[in-house]
Amino acid sequence: MTPNPRNVIVVGGGPAGLMAAERIALAGHRVELFDAMPSVGRKFLLAGIGGLNLTHSEPAPKFVARYGEAAAWMSGLLDRFGAEALRQWAGELGIDTFVGSSGRVFPVEMKAAPLLRAWLQRLRAAQVRIHPRHRWTGWVSPHGKATTDLRLVSPSGALTRSADAVVLALGGGSWSRLGSDGAWMPWLADRGIALAPLRPANCGFDICSPSGDGIGWGDYFANRFAGQALKNIAIRIKDADGDRHERVGECLVTVAGLEGSLIYALAAPIRDAIEAAGSPLEIRLDLFPGRPLAALTEALSQPRGRRSLSNHLHSKAGISGVKAGLLREFVPPEEMNDMRTLAAKIKSLPLRLARPRPIDEAISTAGGVALDELDHRMMVKRWPGLFCCGEMLDWEAPTGGYLLTGCFATGHAAGDGVVDWLAR
Ligand SMILES: Cc1cc2nc3c(=O)[nH]c(=O)nc-3n(C[C@H](O)[C@H](O)[C@H](O)COP(=O)(O)OP(=O)(O)OC[C@H]3O[C@@H](n4cnc5c(N)ncnc54)[C@H](O)[C@@H]3O)c2cc1C
Repeated sequence: MTPNPRNVIVVGGGPAGLMAAERIALAGHRVELFDAMPSVGRKFLLAGIGGLNLTHSEPAPKFVARYGEAAAWMSGLLDRFGAEALRQWAGELGIDTFVGSSGRVFPVEMKAAPLLRAWLQRLRAAQVRIHPRHRWTGWVSPHGKATTDLRLVSPSGALTRSADAVVLALGGGSWSRLGSDGAWMPWLADRGIALAPLRPANCGFDICSPSGDGIGWGDYFANRFAGQALKNIAIRIKDADGDRHERVGECLVTVAGLEGSLIYALAAPIRDAIEAAGSPLEIRLDLFPGRPLAALTEALSQPRGRRSLSNHLHSKAGISGVKAGLLREFVPPEEMNDMRTLAAKIKSLPLRLARPRPIDEAISTAGGVALDELDHRMMVKRWPGLFCCGEMLDWEAPTGGYLLTGCFATGHAAGDGVVDWLAR
């Protein structure tokens, strides 16, 4: 507990901002947290709907590597508050976690709401004052020196607030209806803070139509199969540098393309390759990754008798439903009846991805505040007293619990950074 309590403002009540607020309040400072939305943690609650993947249990070197270009930067933060610390922290809130079959870590109850409820109780007990429906709209003097005097808008009108330190934890730029709308980008840019443009990460992609002259599946395929999963397939891509990537998993057919975990896992190199080339990227689907081409060709070449092609495909290659539909969508009829060619297409079906889906639909965003703008305390080097954390920083990671862990770790570091800086 500090003998010298100071006033700190946190803007943004997602996992990063709440974590920063907790660290600062537990050190004895007075914390006011402002959020634009009627309640805090809305994206966190959404993340809990399909099962809150809090973190991952894989060994630290593998875990850290998931942050790609930001791995070295994130590594020190994860040493201080990584996967194990996060599980222990959740446990102290009464939320037990378990490791799923894929190594992902979930709360036993799977949801985010019980954790958020318990956390908000603890924050209130630590005297954190939460002000929902308070939107930060920039600094009091846009061209002045201070970045700790804030302009806000609340239902009762405009107000200004200043503090000894300010933490911004404003999120990325997706799912803007939950609060993170990226509106802060120009305000930080005006202060000379280097920013990378916000881009979709962990996102779906629109597909080039089979005829190649438009976007989206044919009407029949879209009507029949949109919403269905392509299970146990592999996707191979060549990235912008010509390096090959291959992943096995499952993805979802959407009205205009593909999304889901397998696509998200490859979304960053796909997005970058499309951007670098300025044109669609060809990807290859292996609809039967467990079976070598020769064995598949041999199986399909066995006499078909009076069986229809669909039945033959099903009995000899286990291919039916959406996978068979995909073949019919992209393989011309004459090639469908040539078993050698058909087997080759099952093992390597070329599709072209035209563009990422709009940023607002993405699970997370890349881009934001450049990491080298921050010092070891997560303080903006050129604006002492201003700290940033969470998804608004320029790092990205795949799904698997790495996003939340990164937000908690940076929020934790920013909170401790404020305490350390105020004690200087
Ligand atoms: C559908 C979905 C599922 C997901 N599932 C998972 C998962 O299982 N595991 C995982 O690791 N990650 C998951 N994520 C990602 C994860 O939820 C985010 O990375 C994380 O919430 C980001 O935390 P944050 O605190 O940086 O920002 P946010 O959670 O976005 O919070 C930012 C806050 O800032 C507020 N704010 C923004 N601008 C202003 C302003 N001007 N004034 C005042 N307040 C403002 C917003 O209202 C918001 O409350 C999922 C995301 C989505 C969309």
